[in-house]
Amino acid sequence: MNNTPQKPAIGISEQRVDDDFKSYKIPCSCGCDNNVDFFIEVDEYSISATVCSTTKTNYWRERVAVKYTEPWIILNSKLLFNDVYNRLAICGQALFKGYIQTESCVILSEQQALNFAETIKSAAAEFDIIVKVRMAKHVAEKAAEKAAAKKTKAARTKSE
Ligand SMILES: [Zn+2]
Repeated sequence: MNNTPQKPAIGISEQRVDDDFKSYKIPCSCGCDNNVDFFIEVDEYSISATVCSTTKTNYWRERVAVKYTEPWIILNSKLLFNDVYNRLAICGQALFKGYIQTESCVILSEQQALNFAETIKSAAAEFDIIVKVRMAKHVAEKAAEKAAAKKTKAARTKSE
C-alpha cells in the first residue's frame, strides 16, 4: 500500500459530473450492499458537500440462534421466526417509542479513504476557481453599475 491517492480513484465511482455538480458512489469495502453517495456542488458563491447513505434496522438479528448445519425444516423455521420477530420488533419500536433505530456502516479501506479525501480536495479546488471567477465577475458588474450610475448623475447635474 502506498500513501498516494490513485487516479482514477479505485473504490470510488463517479456518477455525474457537471460544471457545478459532481456525485460519487463509494461502496463498502466489506462487500455488503451499503454505500455512501457523495455530492459536491457549487451554488452561486459557495461550495457544499453532502454525504448520504441508506440506513437499515438490525433486521439481521438472530432472535434464536441459527446453525446452517441443521436440518432444512428446522433451519428455515428459525430463519422465518427471526425474520417475523425482527419485523414485529421494528413495528413495536415505531409504535411505542415513536421512532425506529437504524444505522449504516460503510467501511473504507485505507486506499479508498485516501482516494475519497483526494476526490473531495480536488473537486473543492476545482469549484473554488468557479466561485472566485463568479465573485470577480460580480464585483466587476457592481463596479460597472456604480460607474454608470455616477455617469448618469453627472450628466443630470450638468443639464440642470
Ligand atoms: Zn459493509
